[in-house]
Amino acid sequence: MVSIDVMGGSTEIGGNKIFVEHKGTSILLDFGMSFSQNSKYFSEFLNPRKCTALTDYLEMGLLPDVKGIYRGDYLKHMGRPPEKREIDALFLSHAHADHAQYIHFLRFDIPIYCTKATNIILQCLEKTGTGTTSDLTTACETFVFYENEKGNLSRVTKKNSEYVHERDFHIMEPEKRVRVGSLEIEMFPVDHSLPGACGFIIYSDEGNIVYTGDIRFHGYNRESSERFVEKAAKCSPKWLLCEGTRIDSNEIDSEQSVKDEIGKIVASSKELVFVEHPVRDLDRVKSIFDAAKTNGREFVVGLKLAYLIEAMGNLSPFSIDDVKILVPKKSWGLLCKTGIEKSLVEKDYFQWERDFLFRSNSITSEELRNNPQKYIVSINLWGINQLIDLQMHNAIWIKSSCEPFSDDMDLDEERKKNWLEHFGIQLFSAHASGHASGNEIRNMIDRIAPQHLIPIHTEHPDMFPQRPVL
Ligand SMILES: [Zn+2]
Ligand SMILES: [Zn+2]
Repeated sequence: MVSIDVMGGSTEIGGNKIFVEHKGTSILLDFGMSFSQNSKYFSEFLNPRKCTALTDYLEMGLLPDVKGIYRGDYLKHMGRPPEKREIDALFLSHAHADHAQYIHFLRFDIPIYCTKATNIILQCLEKTGTGTTSDLTTACETFVFYENEKGNLSRVTKKNSEYVHERDFHIMEPEKRVRVGSLEIEMFPVDHSLPGACGFIIYSDEGNIVYTGDIRFHGYNRESSERFVEKAAKCSPKWLLCEGTRIDSNEIDSEQSVKDEIGKIVASSKELVFVEHPVRDLDRVKSIFDAAKTNGREFVVGLKLAYLIEAMGNLSPFSIDDVKILVPKKSWGLLCKTGIEKSLVEKDYFQWERDFLFRSNSITSEELRNNPQKYIVSINLWGINQLIDLQMHNAIWIKSSCEPFSDDMDLDEERKKNWLEHFGIQLFSAHASGHASGNEIRNMIDRIAPQHLIPIHTEHPDMFPQRPVL
């Protein structure tokens, strides 16, 4: 018998955690963070406590209480006995936090299958992110002491290599099946607002399962989504796990029109243009890059995006040498002082940032101030304090990201508007969703024609079409 247990994501957008079991083989599809469950109890300054390992997460319903999946160092710290592994593999649809972030809590020996781009993005998140994105690819045992050179006890850190574990990643190739016990799993790239997104077909001798992950049909990879739907239909699935973020909306989106819109707005300005966008959405980044080129401007990226573009190599739509890198003032602000040794300036920055400080295409706010008409700058709220250095007036800010969907985000949006008003910056918007519209979802379901439909990643499972049980 095939059993499908949706332990996260059935009545909310994200937090996907799907357990599939067949003849003693168990796999997990995604293991993401639920934003809605988290924000029900926690906020920026009220977080689950590190010191309780899994307890706060289990108590408040952020993680399911399932045996044989969680890391041993956390179980031991909680006084739980060691467990044997109960899951054969995790298949990851993409690296967005609502699908991947809780890998942090999983055993180190669970094989993780994903695309190459997903693996690179997880490495970037771990390297350039904060504590919440740690241990995704390389995990370090926590709550453990070692005996130091003086014979005293010290806490283990990532420097103690024997306590560091490389997670067991397996890179999947499109349309090449992987066997795990009684199941075979095939990966299909799909169009979404993050590189490396994919859907899966899971084959069993008692019926096939299709899992869409997050999907859309209006970005630069829409043919991939079409091919996935075509292949999914061909396997005559018994079950379809179908995302429905926008099942309640028939608004038509297009990444191409975002590019055109940004191009038009830029053409109307002779001043500096800022674009606020999801930093890892390389489709959007390509749209901005192309709009800059059309207008004879250069695209200026921040350090996190620079790091991602370089790490992605030929999976990025352009090379890091094709753009300028904006290095912000940090800590003591030594970058902008003359006659200071490089080694002293570097101390203002994280290790991963130092490599970008003195490149031939690195610039500071001074260059933007001197030649505002030459650039389009990638920015977000966390970098908005650079406006103080720039002292720009009549500049333009294009919001190319989704509308706020929480109280915290509403407040951030209000704060941003205050900054823009202070500096006399005009606000525009141009955005397309990462998800298919209601009509596209219904059309996909019709084409795939599963025997059973399991809505996921949606606040409106009731709006999905009813399918007869054959
Ligand atoms: Zn998602
Ligand atoms: Zn996503």
